[in-house]
Amino acid sequence: MPDIWTEALQGLQPRLGPETYDLWLRPMTLERVEGDHLLVAAPSRFMKEWFENHYLDAVLEQLRERHTDQLTVAIEVRPEPVPAPPPLRADFQEPVTNRARPTAPVPAAHAKPPLGLADRYRFDTFIKGSSNELAASAAWAVAQEPGRRFNPLFIYGGVGLGKTHLLHAVGHELFAQRPELRIAYLSAERFMNEFISAVRFNQFDEFRRRYREDCDVLLIDDIQFISGRDRTMDEFFHVFNALYEAGKQIMVTADRVPADMAGMEERLTSRLNWGLVADIKAPDLETRVAILRQKADLEGIEVPDDVAVTIANMVRSNVRELEGALVRVATFADLKGLAITQAFVREVLGNIPRAAGPSAVTVEAVQKAVASYFSVRIADLKGPRRHKGISRPRMIAMFLAREMTGSSFPEIGQRFGGKDHSTVINACRRIAALSAEDDELKASVDALRRKIAMAPTSRRA
Ligand code: ADP
Ligand code: MG
Repeated sequence: MPDIWTEALQGLQPRLGPETYDLWLRPMTLERVEGDHLLVAAPSRFMKEWFENHYLDAVLEQLRERHTDQLTVAIEVRPEPVPAPPPLRADFQEPVTNRARPTAPVPAAHAKPPLGLADRYRFDTFIKGSSNELAASAAWAVAQEPGRRFNPLFIYGGVGLGKTHLLHAVGHELFAQRPELRIAYLSAERFMNEFISAVRFNQFDEFRRRYREDCDVLLIDDIQFISGRDRTMDEFFHVFNALYEAGKQIMVTADRVPADMAGMEERLTSRLNWGLVADIKAPDLETRVAILRQKADLEGIEVPDDVAVTIANMVRSNVRELEGALVRVATFADLKGLAITQAFVREVLGNIPRAAGPSAVTVEAVQKAVASYFSVRIADLKGPRRHKGISRPRMIAMFLAREMTGSSFPEIGQRFGGKDHSTVINACRRIAALSAEDDELKASVDALRRKIAMAPTSRRA
């Protein structure tokens, strides 16, 4: 028996045809049902948007007809395929090619495939420019001489600028050249989760062995995630010391410099500064065009030069968005049977959602603004207290975090002291509903939204 979501999708198949069904509907899978609320996973942001714009209404209609008209649906981007082996959060975007069906992952040539590194995040696909030159050459040096020159290597920069790409590239390169090295690659979030479950299930010895002893290279993505999480920071501190003293390579990425990570212990930030700290900035026009060219080649998309420049001029601050824009243009062109011209690009990209750039809003920025607006402490927003004077601002903060940062519900839950994603979903629904009837609340939310949007973001070099 298919679940109610799949059933509704299948109900549309006769009308839409099998091609469309396979391409756009089938990849949307049901994650969870909470009462009348369905949580659905999309493999990429592009797919999510496309689906919402084209098919969601029809699916909702089916669902409401068959079940209850109270039914609501939220779609989240979940890049990893559900049954994927390691629960790794490599936040790579699934390439959406014109008519491609999802293909099975290519089996790695090596006996022991590299640890969930995204196949295409390699040095030879990383375009260098003045914005990322230092970071890229330091990463390259680390891959040539791990544990020698830059240890730790700390790379920081805004969203979608290639930090994860470089981290994976180091992993690939080391794996290819020095297969005997034991390389651990993971997000800081996963590090925390593994640590917590190791403690809970009495497997701490194994955890300790894995990261302190049986590890020659430690690659950790988005280290800012553990700031404020005392026990995890403490454990990371010990891992760091053990590896560092043994001359093992450590490479870390973050969205800001160590000193700017509120809640990060001093002894940790100072260690993160011991080696080389290199930033990645938004790429200049030439680099953006080069990245587009490469992406177009990779996807088999034909883009005239003037059009590449037009796209590069429209999307400036985030490489992931830039690549997404190209794919979107190509898909539209293909579906409509039109050539990719400048005018066409302007038409398609004219309504690019103004999303994440280096100046993107962070969950922390939202919390800070909400806390100061309502005169409550950030710790209370993250804490468990249910008093209305606190729970109301907390819900507003969750709501704005969801709206303004594009973070997922579980991510937001984590940043509010490890709350369940359903708490976040409920908060968002409550605030959305309340602001329709409560003018005062709506005014507060609007004021906060403006304040957050205009706030200077964390310091960037
Ligand atoms: P971050 O980790 O900094 O948020 P990612 O490493 O995930 O960003 O990069 C986002 C996307 O942009 C990825 O698809 C990545 O391959 C691509 N990208 C970023 N910088 C470059 C670059 N210099 N050359 C090629 N691709 C890049
Ligand atoms: Mg990243």
